[in-house]
Amino acid sequence: REGLKKTRESIFKQVRRLLSFEKLDDETLEEIEELLITSDMGVKTASEVIEKLKERANKSDNPLETLKEILRELLKIDSVEKHPELPPLVISVVGVNGTGKTTTIGKLSKRFVNEGKKVVLAACDTFRAAAVEQLKIWSERVGVDFISQGQGADPAAVAFDAVSHAKSKAKDVVLIDTAGRLHTKHNLMEELKKVHRVIKKVIPEAPHEVLLVIDATTGQNGLVQARKFMETVDITGIVLTKLDGTAKGGIVFAIVRELGIPVKYIGVGESIDDLRPFNSDEFVEAILG
Ligand code: GDP
Repeated sequence: REGLKKTRESIFKQVRRLLSFEKLDDETLEEIEELLITSDMGVKTASEVIEKLKERANKSDNPLETLKEILRELLKIDSVEKHPELPPLVISVVGVNGTGKTTTIGKLSKRFVNEGKKVVLAACDTFRAAAVEQLKIWSERVGVDFISQGQGADPAAVAFDAVSHAKSKAKDVVLIDTAGRLHTKHNLMEELKKVHRVIKKVIPEAPHEVLLVIDATTGQNGLVQARKFMETVDITGIVLTKLDGTAKGGIVFAIVRELGIPVKYIGVGESIDDLRPFNSDEFVEAILG
């Protein structure tokens, strides 16, 4: 809730205020719609929400509760936890550089370790020496295995090593840090596909999860990035980072509604414990409750 303060105390505060009026006239509804669009909810989703609010508001004496109900419904989407028959669970983490991929992997590994799980980190962003180093630092901090090869190594080879290591040493989870550079000759998407193909040589059902990291502060641009990745890889969940740094938390609704992919975790700060499993009811309550 603390991490969502900016979203709660700005745009959605105004929404709360507008909904405290006795009558929801067209002008108020329009103002609310504009606020929702400002929150990065997306024009389509915002107008859908307003339509529903219009329909239901006259039957309700608590328009704020009605809006919360509509938003909760919007976020209801099947989100299945994947459990492999045999460990390890392999999670590939993808996304554009700077979105918070490496930090998210560090935070995630801490969560798994807290659950008593043995974790392996795979440094598959072999293009950036700094990325490998940063992941190594996280592995030392959390106390988990770290698999890397030299700079410029084939990312798929690193992934193969890491998953093989985890399988033979009975580790529980492998987190794969992948490259996210956008503007190079080398085709990032082909590289990702190869990483996933090679992982399957060790465990046919893997990767069990492909988490796409999106930076909430980039707004609708994050949706554009997501669609690019979705063309190539089967994204099973979104990690939405830096929600603490934006007032535009409405992006959550746009992601779920327009991409049809569940948000699995949200990042609400830079420190190791600032990653939360996403809960739609709690989210709506945190911004409008
Ligand atoms: P990568 O290039 O995608 O691996 O991104 P990094 O993990 O290096 O993160 C980029 C920057 O974003 C770092 O300064 C992180 O501390 C910061 N960051 C990551 N997640 C969050 C978050 O949830 N909130 C805030 N405020 N900063 C974050």
